[in-house]
Amino acid sequence: MPAEEVFVALGGNIGDSQTIVAQALDALANISQTSLRASSSLYRCAAVSDIPQDDYINAVALLDTNLEPMALLLELQAIEHAYYRRRDQEQRWAPRTLDLDIILFGDRSFNDSHLIIPHPEFAQRLFVLEPMFEIDGDRFIPGYGSLRYLIDNAPAISLEKVT
Ligand code: ATP
Ligand code: CA
Ligand code: CA
Repeated sequence: MPAEEVFVALGGNIGDSQTIVAQALDALANISQTSLRASSSLYRCAAVSDIPQDDYINAVALLDTNLEPMALLLELQAIEHAYYRRRDQEQRWAPRTLDLDIILFGDRSFNDSHLIIPHPEFAQRLFVLEPMFEIDGDRFIPGYGSLRYLIDNAPAISLEKVT
């Protein structure tokens, strides 16, 4: 089997998020049977939540992997735990040290109680689409359209590249 292309979204808003997200990119490069082909800049994004919290730092990585989707998810969760991800289980969209989501996995669709691919919200999230565009601007996503089209139609948010 040839390796498959996977987009992973990274985010965090507790602690030194710029350092945590940068270190998480290195951790992605060290996953077995997986290589990091490209990573975006870091972006700062106002949290979309009713719970007052700090801005998020977001980024996207493009991986090549020979792992199956569920095996990759377990690797991502191990990295999250390594950064002491803390979450109040009662609160969705609560602050967290590190969040790693699989956005696309090749051209696969997958849907069970642990994993949904493509990520169900990615087309509504500029903090995912803009970093994807930075690393792979010509990408056309079957069933969704071009990244340019998705960006033009996503809800506006406050997002800026971290310099
Ligand atoms: P959102 O999915 O809206 O970004 P979230 O990232 O805050 O929400 P989490 O609490 O991090 O949600 O994850 C809840 C569960 O979502 C995870 O335990 C995981 O099993 C599941 N999940 C489903 N699809 C995916 C995916 N594509 N990537 C990562 N986790 C996923
Ligand atoms: Ca998420
Ligand atoms: Ca998540």
